[in-house]
Amino acid sequence: MRPETIKKLCCPFDKGDLTLTEITKEISGNILEGFFVCTICKRLYPIVKGIPIMSPDEFREFKLEQPLLERWEKHLNGHSFANFRLVGPENRAKELS
Ligand SMILES: [Zn+2]
Repeated sequence: MRPETIKKLCCPFDKGDLTLTEITKEISGNILEGFFVCTICKRLYPIVKGIPIMSPDEFREFKLEQPLLERWEKHLNGHSFANFRLVGPENRAKELS
């Protein structure tokens, strides 16, 4: 997907802004792998083979996306992937208490 396309995207759920993490990219600038995170709901949308997966939760399959997120773990900065959202270390602590 092309960087100029990315600027037009927002979260399909709440229209929040998306932050992009680029993982692999062609020389031309097309992003092949990476992910978006919504600044409002923290949903994570993977980009796979240049295509962003931005379906509603009920059309997503966690077990298909989980291996990707495990491979991208070092890009998650200590966050984890749960319920299609990026969960920060501070949120996890709250759930435990
Ligand atoms: Zn959102």
